[in-house]
Amino acid sequence: MAGDFYSSEGDAVLREAGLRVTRQRQAIVRVLFEAEDHPDAEQVLVRARDKDASVSQATAYRTLGALADKGLLHRHMFDGGVTRFELATRPHHDHLIDVESGEVMEFVSDEIECLQRRIAAEYGYDIVAHRLELYCKKRRS
Ligand SMILES: [Zn+2]
Repeated sequence: MAGDFYSSEGDAVLREAGLRVTRQRQAIVRVLFEAEDHPDAEQVLVRARDKDASVSQATAYRTLGALADKGLLHRHMFDGGVTRFELATRPHHDHLIDVESGEVMEFVSDEIECLQRRIAAEYGYDIVAHRLELYCKKRRS
């Protein structure tokens, strides 16, 4: 019962990382494609096991490491603690982190993008990548 939940885009990501395509790795990559919450390695493992119970911790951690090392997966350390993952193929966005709940929200601001390019240009540079993280507390009024 491969079919719809094992996508060819997932296989392509594995091959790009130089990994052999296995059912276990397909389950891991599928989890990454489905994730909307920047999961950590443990969460990826649990969700991958829901798809394929034979996914081992070593396979999950090694696969995540290999994808990240190849630049196919972003590592985030929003709270300076646990590493969280996000596919690098997702459209660019910045993050707002609620420091009380740990919730991570995504936003895009053309104004900020523009301003950053202008600052880089003033120093004689073109931006090749950037990360912006806003650490926030919810307003109480
Ligand atoms: Zn994100």
